Amino acid sequence: MKVLVINCGSSSLKYQLIDMDTNNVMAKGLCDRIAINDSELTHTVNGVKTVIKKDMPDHAAAVEMVIAALTDSEHGVIKDMSEVSAVGHRLVHGGEKFAGSVLINDEVMATIEECVPLAPLHNPANIIGIDACRKAMPNVPMVAVFDTAFHQTMPADSYMYAIPYEYYEKFKIRRYGFHGTSHKYVAQRAAEILGKKLEDLKIVNCHLGSGSSICAIDCGKSVDTTMGFTPLAGLEMGTRCGDIDPAIVTFLMDNEKLSTKEIDSILNKKAGFLGLSGVSNDCRDVEAAAKDGNERADIALKVFIKQVKKYIGAYAAEMGGIDVLTFTAGIGENTIWMREAICEGLEYMGIKVDAEKNNCRGKEVDISADGATVTTMVVPTNEELMIAIETVELL
Ligand code: AMP
Repeated sequence: MKVLVINCGSSSLKYQLIDMDTNNVMAKGLCDRIAINDSELTHTVNGVKTVIKKDMPDHAAAVEMVIAALTDSEHGVIKDMSEVSAVGHRLVHGGEKFAGSVLINDEVMATIEECVPLAPLHNPANIIGIDACRKAMPNVPMVAVFDTAFHQTMPADSYMYAIPYEYYEKFKIRRYGFHGTSHKYVAQRAAEILGKKLEDLKIVNCHLGSGSSICAIDCGKSVDTTMGFTPLAGLEMGTRCGDIDPAIVTFLMDNEKLSTKEIDSILNKKAGFLGLSGVSNDCRDVEAAAKDGNERADIALKVFIKQVKKYIGAYAAEMGGIDVLTFTAGIGENTIWMREAICEGLEYMGIKVDAEKNNCRGKEVDISADGATVTTMVVPTNEELMIAIETVELL
């Protein structure tokens, strides 16, 4: 069974064609600069890239190009689209409406539309992508997989904010959490690797990348997570501020005479590693600058490490213990010294990392030291595969 996974942004479309019998990625690619000039498609098969430059005036044109690339006589991997059993779409926000993945129909599309105010930048692009695919492949079943769905199991005392209740009723302002597909995948993989049942584990998963979030997973269910009403909350990120005193927002607006758009842009695009270090949003650049003696870069990294450490403690306290600590995403999978720094001082909780085992990147490894009572692991995330798995399960 072959599943096409689609992840649509406002001007991009990423895809992967996955053979679900082997979990093998047959082809993957990116349509970039859709509806902008110089649009191009990069199609990759077995590491070999083909770049096709062609005008893509809208997402429908991009979907046509993806179909053409997948079925091309030279760089294609299938004869025609009848070989594709289903399409799995990544959706950012399912609000309170979706606690799991769903088979897409007109009614589901209408409900997804209702969630647009909660993710005005992301959901419209996702919807355009689905519409384009439904038109181009009318007989292929489509599934929507939401970043927020996994966190719908959070109890009210994790998701409610202490603001007037009417705002929850009126605007559905609450914690939703994101990266759900990744948190779910990593938790399932960790249990599989350990040969244990998810239902028997208390897991804290640290998804640390350009966007970062931590999730407390008890018996396979998300019970708390660091991102909130939007993906701006929680940890310091590449360009996002994470948790700050909300009064800073109004203080800055008043004193710098900023509009809502301007403050939003500062907190989303000019804060985090970039804003604090003044060097880069990329952790590797910040690390290099810190090594060269840049104090702002050094503090940007230390703030991040302390936040991660604090949330591990908080979530262990919340769940009444922790059995497994997992690291995933760009930073979590690759930054050896940072995993060590985060775990340093947590020995009293039973978290102890072995330096030699921890000397690994992007691989599934148990990095716990002898005598540790908590299993600490690196588990590379695979959101596309998880979307494809959910799609197959739904069918
Ligand atoms: P992601 O958003 O998951 O792709 O993660 C991107 C972040 O991971 C950036 O801050 C990178 O600096 C960091 N990172 C560290 N080492 C690596 C690596 N070897 N490959 C990719 N990303 C890395």
